[in-house]
Amino acid sequence: MSEHTITVAGVAVDTRHWIGGERVASTQTFPDVSPIDGRTIGEISRGTATEAAAAVAAAKAAFPAWAATSRAERARILHAIADGVEKRIEELAIVETTDNGALLRSHRRGVMPRVAHNFRFFADWLQSLDHEDFDTRGHTNHVSWDPAGPCVLITPWNAPLMLATWKVAPALAAGDTVVLKPAEWSPLTASLLADIAAEAGLPAGVLNIVQGYGSEIGDALTSHPDVRRISFTGSVPTAKRIAASAAANLTPLSLELGGKSPLLVFADADLDLAVDLAVEQYDNAGQVCLAGTRLLVEEPVAEEFTRRFVEKASGLKQGDPRDEATDIGPNIHNLQLEKIDGFVQRAVADGARAVIGGHRRDGQYYAPTLLADVAQDSEIVQEEVFGPVLTLQTFTDEDEAVRLANGTRFGLAATVTTGDPERAQRVTAQLVAGTVWVNCFFVRDLQAPFGGSRLSGVGREGGTWSFDFYCDLKNTVTAPKGWKDH
Ligand code: NAD
Repeated sequence: MSEHTITVAGVAVDTRHWIGGERVASTQTFPDVSPIDGRTIGEISRGTATEAAAAVAAAKAAFPAWAATSRAERARILHAIADGVEKRIEELAIVETTDNGALLRSHRRGVMPRVAHNFRFFADWLQSLDHEDFDTRGHTNHVSWDPAGPCVLITPWNAPLMLATWKVAPALAAGDTVVLKPAEWSPLTASLLADIAAEAGLPAGVLNIVQGYGSEIGDALTSHPDVRRISFTGSVPTAKRIAASAAANLTPLSLELGGKSPLLVFADADLDLAVDLAVEQYDNAGQVCLAGTRLLVEEPVAEEFTRRFVEKASGLKQGDPRDEATDIGPNIHNLQLEKIDGFVQRAVADGARAVIGGHRRDGQYYAPTLLADVAQDSEIVQEEVFGPVLTLQTFTDEDEAVRLANGTRFGLAATVTTGDPERAQRVTAQLVAGTVWVNCFFVRDLQAPFGGSRLSGVGREGGTWSFDFYCDLKNTVTAPKGWKDH
């Protein structure tokens, strides 16, 4: 083990960058802190513009050979990476939980198997491209999805490996090479992914990983002229900086951003289901972009809904995310807790009533909170909190429900609970959101387009949409034999 290796819950993790198939250390480091106990897990290489440039150069050098590698071979390697992930599910799960505080049981049973699925899905989907032949006055059109080049992928901390591989897998499948920049609050599983990819036979330079602060290393990646695509998941302010930086080269962007999604409860809904779905919005301590943080409830059932919600939410167990019985773990960082509490205290000062919660708990925990008596134009209704904080508003008819639901600058997701299929159709048709769920939440198929409207994002990824983004589409028009242009 090198001096750059740390042991996290028994798992060896290299703290250096992964560039051109080699571990590269920076002279400076940054501390990686566990939200479980606030202790420093280890010191991680703190990248600069130098490492950013080296990673892009490695991705550029590896691109021609990877782009020319047959689809079958690329798919075989992606499946081998999935095999490696599956073999290491326990290790990945405990390292991720230690690093970002999300529940170990979710990482084990849901998230890490899904990481493997990301690779399998895009390896298989690759085979279905290039079937768009059609005829124009005897000429054949053949649409091909050509690899685009080196891609920069920048990801957040709330679901680190899941969100990273949701980008890495389609980019590699498409024949692109990658520079991944994980979030500085959760850098560890990306490093394990480098080990897994190398063991699976991914050639050097095809996947590169640089660690560090976005503010220090980001611009060198996003303004680089050799980068052909930038896919970013994170906050709106960062997205604006990235878009400005990418504008220098008009580099195509995919932006998956924040949300302030509504969860609508009509009086004809199955109220137990609606309550279950509402309480589910506290998952991952509220650090979920898709979370339906605005509960919009039809007036006649609002009191009963609130009573049942409070009863159910009060039973949630908050504590160590490694404990199987825990429902809500810590929030990622003290800075995030201060931000969450700031939103709540300003809302309360503004007249909001904490039905439950409304305060911090010992350690890095925030009490699950429901705020009532909130105005539509207030900060707490309009801005993403990214913590276990929901608001409650009531409505009297469908028109008002839709008006409130659409009344923010975001448009990531929406959930509608109703027992009336016709109402479901009428309402969903009017909602501005990339994903709308009816009587369910978080059901997500990689075939479906995923993304947000308005400030929630630019573009869609998933299935064909991922390949549309990570490839250069080319149409080749071939004349019939003997054809002359007159
Ligand atoms: P963030 O914007 O602070 O950071 C995201 C990433 O961007 C990190 O890796 C960070 O280091 C990097 N970064 C920071 N400054 C940069 C710069 N100038 N140039 C390049 N990169 C830079 O977001 P966060 O706090 O890590 O994540 C939370 C946000 O992500 C929330 O708004 C949440 O809704 C959003 N999110 C969206 C989705 C989605 O799919 N739409 C999924 C998860 C999270």
